Amino acid sequence: MGCQIAMNTTNTPGRSRAELHELGSRHLWMHFTQMGNYATEEMRVISRGEGCYLFDTEGKRYLDGLSGLFVVQAGHGRTELAEAAREQSEKLAYFPIWGYAHEPAIELAAQLASLSPGDLNRVFFTASGSEAVETAWKIARQYFAAIGEPGRYKVISRDVAYHGTTMGALSITGLPSLRQPFEPLVPGARHVPNTNAYRPWIEGLSPERFAEESALAIERAILSEGPTSVAAVFLEPLQNAGGCFVPPPGYFTLVREICDKYGVLLVSDEVICAYGRLGHMFGSARYGYVPDIITSAKGLTSGYSPLGAVLVSDRMMEPFLKPGAAFAHGITFGGHPVSCAVALANLAILENEDLCGNVLAHEGQFQNMLKSLLDIPIVGDVRGDGYFWAIELVRDQQTKAEFSSAETEHLIRGFLSPRLFEEGLICRTDDRGEPVIQLSPPLIAGPAEFEYIERVLRSVLTAAAEQLL
Ligand code: PMP
Repeated sequence: MGCQIAMNTTNTPGRSRAELHELGSRHLWMHFTQMGNYATEEMRVISRGEGCYLFDTEGKRYLDGLSGLFVVQAGHGRTELAEAAREQSEKLAYFPIWGYAHEPAIELAAQLASLSPGDLNRVFFTASGSEAVETAWKIARQYFAAIGEPGRYKVISRDVAYHGTTMGALSITGLPSLRQPFEPLVPGARHVPNTNAYRPWIEGLSPERFAEESALAIERAILSEGPTSVAAVFLEPLQNAGGCFVPPPGYFTLVREICDKYGVLLVSDEVICAYGRLGHMFGSARYGYVPDIITSAKGLTSGYSPLGAVLVSDRMMEPFLKPGAAFAHGITFGGHPVSCAVALANLAILENEDLCGNVLAHEGQFQNMLKSLLDIPIVGDVRGDGYFWAIELVRDQQTKAEFSSAETEHLIRGFLSPRLFEEGLICRTDDRGEPVIQLSPPLIAGPAEFEYIERVLRSVLTAAAEQLL
């Protein structure tokens, strides 16, 4: 198919913008992307990163307001991380952790155990977040079989929550539009209401009562499934999909108690919320609970190499240490030596530059800046914690009236997404729940980046409001 789009083809090193579009639209299959659009729309190609900023092939600058995809904690262009990858590749580029070990995996497992809450002292490495979630469910199932409770295989998670795309993780995911094309899914996954306080599933309660009712919804699901059939509850500390649903006060204390009451494991899916995103090494620490398992990935390496990690408690590890026992699961690239070396260097940056401290010192300012946008008539709600925030867009601030689906489609894909990009801000515009804009800048960001974000959001959202209202 020929490319009909007129574009600048300035002399940048390598291929021209038009050539990249031509090849990309013909051969590349982008994730969760309407590929048919590239018959008429130009492919956005990013070429280079530096600190909080990205540059396209023409040298145009963008603020990376999403850290790639909630990934690049330490910022782009960090030579220390590139150097760690180069050194490890030269020394030992690849070796599995199946029956052998290598130094970076041992060092990283020990380091994560020292940083983790409670007695989560055992680390199973994967290559991604979906694999981490998949692995956690399998650990739970084999653990219960090993301790004589083979009937416990079910999992409970929340509506609209995203937990990954592999078949097990997808079954845990609470987004019908992602699940439906692949049904039937893995049996035993049940969904309960989430903690969206702006549009609560149960109206008129104080935050504390809302927390109680939302935790009780988990208890009711355990009881209706049959307590001895439920293996685990999977929850993010702060739910991403739907737009940064913060846990109401006391929620996790109650959930922890309910899990303990019925012998159900609490899995904290921290694929986004770990490694400083909420100003703590682990998101569970921010909200004061100790899970039985933590799933993580993304920010562990700041994205300089792919890696996931599942952290498991000593109690859960016990049956796997018995003579003859082994977890019947493995992944060739899980715990890749280069990724582990990069993760160690990344954790050193987080510590030496006190990036958690930077988030805690500036999150209030970030919040105030975003809340200042509430004077734009389509900004309905601003919510989040740390460096992880969402702005929900509404037709009417007073009544919280929603846009129609045609308006939402126009607003998100027709207007905001291209305009924000043109104005040099990369962030997420999403309508898996109500329409939201999500921001999660690199953890090195501060007041200068907040000002940039405010300037772009104010101008683009004001223009959107003028168009729609
Ligand atoms: N769990 C959560 C909470 C996530 O946010 C994601 C990815 N956004 C995943 C799991 C899946 O991770 P991955 O895309 O690395 O497979």
